[in-house]
Amino acid sequence: MSADRYDVLFEPVTIGPVTAPNRFYAVPHATGHGWSQPQGAIAVRAMKAEGGWGVVAAQMTEIAPDSDLANHPMDRLWDERDLPVHIAQVEAIKRHGALAAIELAHGGMRARNFTTGLPVPGPSNLPILRPEVPIQARAMDAADIRTFRETHKTAARNAKAAGYDILYVYAAHDLSLLSHFLSRRTNHRMDAYGGSLTNRMRLLREVLEDTLEVANGDCAVALRFSVAEPDKEVGLTHDGEGREVVEALAELPDLWDVNVSGWPQDSQTSRFAEEGFQLPFTDFVKSVTTKPVVGVGRFTSPDLMLSLIRKKRLDLIGAARPSIADPFLPSKIRDGQTEDIRECIGCNICVSMDGYGVPLRCTQNPTIAEEWRRSWHPEIVSAPKDQKAYLVVGAGPAGLECALTLLRAGFRVTIAEARSEAGGRVMEESALPGLSAWRRVRDYRLYQIQQSARADLYLSSPMTPADIEDIDVDGIVVATGSRWRRDGVGATNSFPFAHCDDLLTPDDVMAGRNIPVGPGPVVVYDDDHFYMASVIAEKLAQDGHSVAYATPLPMVASWADLTLEQTSIIQRLNDLGVSLHVNVTMSETGAFNCSLRGTRVDLEASKLVIVGAREPADALFTALKTRLYDRPIWAAGDCHVPGTIQAAVLSGHRTARHILGDVVSGSSFCRDIPSLS
Ligand code: ADP
Ligand code: SF4
Repeated sequence: MSADRYDVLFEPVTIGPVTAPNRFYAVPHATGHGWSQPQGAIAVRAMKAEGGWGVVAAQMTEIAPDSDLANHPMDRLWDERDLPVHIAQVEAIKRHGALAAIELAHGGMRARNFTTGLPVPGPSNLPILRPEVPIQARAMDAADIRTFRETHKTAARNAKAAGYDILYVYAAHDLSLLSHFLSRRTNHRMDAYGGSLTNRMRLLREVLEDTLEVANGDCAVALRFSVAEPDKEVGLTHDGEGREVVEALAELPDLWDVNVSGWPQDSQTSRFAEEGFQLPFTDFVKSVTTKPVVGVGRFTSPDLMLSLIRKKRLDLIGAARPSIADPFLPSKIRDGQTEDIRECIGCNICVSMDGYGVPLRCTQNPTIAEEWRRSWHPEIVSAPKDQKAYLVVGAGPAGLECALTLLRAGFRVTIAEARSEAGGRVMEESALPGLSAWRRVRDYRLYQIQQSARADLYLSSPMTPADIEDIDVDGIVVATGSRWRRDGVGATNSFPFAHCDDLLTPDDVMAGRNIPVGPGPVVVYDDDHFYMASVIAEKLAQDGHSVAYATPLPMVASWADLTLEQTSIIQRLNDLGVSLHVNVTMSETGAFNCSLRGTRVDLEASKLVIVGAREPADALFTALKTRLYDRPIWAAGDCHVPGTIQAAVLSGHRTARHILGDVVSGSSFCRDIPSLS
C-alpha cells in the first residue's frame, strides 16, 4: 500500500498556540504505574512518541491530596515537589518531536482519600460513586470552590512550568469533580452552581477560563468531555445536555477531546462493540465548533482513519488501546507498512491491570510496561554475536511470538505445528461468539514470520521426542499448549473427581462435539471466572440449547469486572435466556448445592460443561528433558504455565529474550526504588 495514500493523516494540526506534527493523538490512559513507579510510565509514553504519535498525553494526574484515587495508581501533580518527574516526562516525549499533554484532574466523588484521610469533596452530600466503598462526599461551599479553582490553577502553572504543550481540563468518564457538578444525578445544589445546566456548567466554564488564563497563549488547553452517558438513566445525551455543553463552550478550549462515559462505555471490548463504536455519539461535535476535535473508538484501520478525516468527522485520530498494542502504528502507516500493524484485539487485559493496581499488560504487545524495566523495545531485538538455529514446537500464540522474536534477532527458526493451520488456541477461541478480533494475535505474527527468509514453518507435523533428536538445531522451545481439565479441578476445587468421563470441557465445545438436546439444561459450571464460561454458555444458547450458568463465586465472570465486561456479559446471557446461578458448588455426582446454606439447588443438567483449570500439555517437554542433554530445551506458554493468551504471548517473548541472553543482572528487572531523602 502506498504511504502517500495516507498523507492526510500526516498533516500538521494547529491546536491553539501549538502545532501537532500529525493527526495521531495518544490520548490519556492509565498505565498502572502511577506516581510511585514513574520511570515505567515515562518510558511507555516516550515509546509512543518514538513510534510517531504526534501528541502523547499523560494519564489522569491528581491535582490535590483530596483527589486521592488509591488503589488506582494515578499520576500526581499536587505541588512543585512532583515537578522533576513531569519535567523528565515532557523531555522524554518531546525528544521524539511529539507534543506532550497532561490531563489535570480532580476525581471528585470518585476519590476515596484513604491515603490522605481528607474528606472527599463533591457538589452535594452524597455517597461517593463507588457504591461498595463506605464513604460519603461532602458538599463544597463557596470557599471550597474558590480553593479548588486555585488548586487547579496552581497545577496548571506547574504543568506549564514542566513544559507541557497541552493542559487538559477533565470533565469525562464520570471520573471528575467537573462531571459531578455537571450531572443532575450528583449535583443537588440550590446555589449558582446547581439547578439549571448553565449553573451546573459554571464550574467547568470557570476552570476552563482559569486554565486558559494560566496558559496565556503559551500552551494549549484541551477539554476532555464525555458527550453522552449511554448506560445512565439520568445522564448526558449527545442530542440533549451533552450537546448543549459543547454548544455553550464551543470556542473556549483550543481542543475538544470527546468520548462517552463511564469508562466501561468508553473502553468497550471487541466482544461487545465494533471499531468506531463511539462515532454515532461524538460525530456532531465537529459541526458545533471550529476548534480541532479528537475522538476515540479503538481505531486500528488506516482506511477508516483516512475516511474520518476526509469526511470531517474528526481532526485527530485518538487512541489509547491501539497505541498500547502498537506504539509504532503511526510510523508504520507513514512508511507504507500497514500490514505490520499489531492491531489491538479489544480484550481489555490492559484495563484489568490498571483496575488491579499494577502496570499494564497487553495481549498483542508483550513489551508494554517493560520498556524501562527490562529495556524491551516493541520493534527492535538486538542481535547477539552468536546466530543460532532453533526449533519451536507448537504454533500457538507462545510459539509464534517466541519464533518471531528469535527471527528478529537474526536466528534461523524452524516451527513445527501438529495441526494443519497455525494459531493454536486462538483459532478455536476466535471462532466463539464475539471473539473474532482475537485472530489478530495469530495473523500479525504469522504474517511477520512468513516474511522472513530464515523461517521454516511446517504444518501437520506432530513432533515426537525421537523426531526432534534427529533435528540439527542449537536449541528447542516447546510451546505445545494445554487442555481444559475434565476432572472438576478449578480455581476453588483442588481435588479431582473420581468419575468425570461424562463431563464436557470447553475443548469439547470448541471442537464442535455434538451435544444432544436433552430434557434439562446444559449447565456451564464456571470455576475459571474470566470469559470462557460465559462465552461457552453464549455459544450453546445460540446453538439452540437451554443453558444454565453456575459458579461457586458470588459474581458471574468475576475477573470480567476488571475488563469492564461483567455487566455486558450478564445482559447478553439474560437476553439469550441463560439462567444464572451464583454461590453454587458442584459435587462429584453432578449435584449442585448453595455454598451459603448448603441446600440443594434445583438444576437437573442434561449435560455438564466444566470450565475449571487447565493441564499443561508438557509431555513432549518432559520427555525431551530426559533424553536430550546436549542442547537447551525451553518450555513456553500454556505448556509451561496455563494462563491467558496474553500470558502465553508474554511467555513466548520472555523465553526468546532469555535465549538471547537478556537477563538484567542482580534481578530479572529494574525497579523504582523509593528514596529516603
Ligand atoms: P500457547 O497458548 O501456549 O501458545 P496453544 O495451545 O495455543 O498454546 O498452542 C499450542 C500449539 O502446539 C497447538 O497449535 C498444538 O497443535 C501444537 N502442538 C501440540 N503438541 C505438538 C507436537 N507434539 N508437535 C507439534 N505441535 C504440537
Ligand atoms: Fe488491546 Fe487487549 Fe492490548 Fe488492551 S490488552 S491494548 S485491549 S490488545
